Amino acid sequence: MKPEIDQNFINSIVNNFIGGICVFDIDSKTREVTPLYKNDGLYRMFNGNKVDIDNIFKRIRISIIPDDLPVFEQGLTDILADDGAAEFEFRIVSSDGSLMWLRFHGNLYSRENDSNIVTAVILDCTEQKTIEEELKRQSDYMHLLMDTDITFDFNCRTDVCIYRITETDALAHDSVIKSYHERIPDLGIFEEDIVSYTEMLESAMAHAHRDKLEFRSKGLINPTDEFRWYRADVVSILGKEGYVSHVIGHIVDIHEDKIKEIELKLRADHDGLTGLMNKQATETLIRTTLEQYEKDDTLTGALMILDTDKFKHINDTYGHSTGDRVLARIGDIIRNNFKGMDVTGRIGGDEFMIFMHNIRTPEDAASLAAKVQNLIMHSFDGEDFGKEVSMSIGIAIVPRDGKDFSELYKKADKALYFVKTHGRAGHKIYNKELEQDQK
Ligand code: GH3
Ligand code: MG
Repeated sequence: MKPEIDQNFINSIVNNFIGGICVFDIDSKTREVTPLYKNDGLYRMFNGNKVDIDNIFKRIRISIIPDDLPVFEQGLTDILADDGAAEFEFRIVSSDGSLMWLRFHGNLYSRENDSNIVTAVILDCTEQKTIEEELKRQSDYMHLLMDTDITFDFNCRTDVCIYRITETDALAHDSVIKSYHERIPDLGIFEEDIVSYTEMLESAMAHAHRDKLEFRSKGLINPTDEFRWYRADVVSILGKEGYVSHVIGHIVDIHEDKIKEIELKLRADHDGLTGLMNKQATETLIRTTLEQYEKDDTLTGALMILDTDKFKHINDTYGHSTGDRVLARIGDIIRNNFKGMDVTGRIGGDEFMIFMHNIRTPEDAASLAAKVQNLIMHSFDGEDFGKEVSMSIGIAIVPRDGKDFSELYKKADKALYFVKTHGRAGHKIYNKELEQDQK
């Protein structure tokens, strides 16, 4: 005999369903979610008292863990777009404090003004998610172990890190580092890289994600005397509770490739004839250096432009290769006399630039200019063109004449022009009268 399909019959099916069947009213403007109906299956699924469960749904956004709120909001947007049913998963803190994974399958039923009636099926998918996470963890492990020098597994709860080092000639061995986090500085990582290494681990501990970092170390893998380049790939693994429980990773030695890459980069930034940096690299580095002058008023520096005098004549009279030899020698003198934080470069055919960092007074800049001039003028003593090599040098003082590269360049160039038009073979520090001079 066919059952009679009346309201009671439907109610009994709905209430016997293992899972939640609900109706919500969602406000388009405020996006407030108000439950209108919940079946008995929802209460059974949560396995707690009715009042607690009602509270969870009354203030649903408070119950969802913050990491999953964006998924929830996007899910609501999809439902309200009325393109058919939308399905999404998120974690919720249940009334006993444990985390549950919920799968929400919602559909827009009707809409009137800002009120949207949404029907939803809510299922508990915690078990399935836990299995998925475990499988993911195992597959990540397998993947990492395949082609690796070293793997580590850092347990966020116990703060213990286990390293597994695979050596080609020996058996793999494990080493255990306790209080890994505090000990990072002891692991032989290059000082400048410790911050990014720590940050990478900290963010992997805070949120589930993958990350990569290139860093230098001389103790992390095999203690060596010199720093080597390594790459660390890390993956964070979620525990049952939905928070990161482990950070696993592998570290590979990328030293040879990295050195090649650095050499290529250096070559691209440097000029082949003099070995000095090219125009673009020089300017970039000077701009970076000037950032410190913005922060620290006590610093004094100087920008110096040097142009070789009557260089065309040297080329034309003594040949291009002699010209090249002169430029290379000038390059050597400049490189050997300005070191540390000073920046040196070849910015044109016969034009050079020096940023002198942290000089005490403008006179210091002038005497350094005189010193280089002297060295260059005498570097070809004894050769037939020896007496013809000299430089015109223009200088601008930081911060007195400016702190901005373009401004300093303009002023040093004005001073250089002054020397070129007043007998060459000398230097000039920028001053305001030069503005009149060229008008
Ligand atoms: P000034 O005193 O006014 O600077 O006269 P100058 O002859 O030096 O004039 P300018 O600075 O304008 O000329 C630079 C010359 O440098 C022009 C170019 O032929 C030459 N030059 C540029 N690059 C190279 C190079 O790599 N090798 C050689 N040998 N000469 C170069
Ligand atoms: Mg010149």
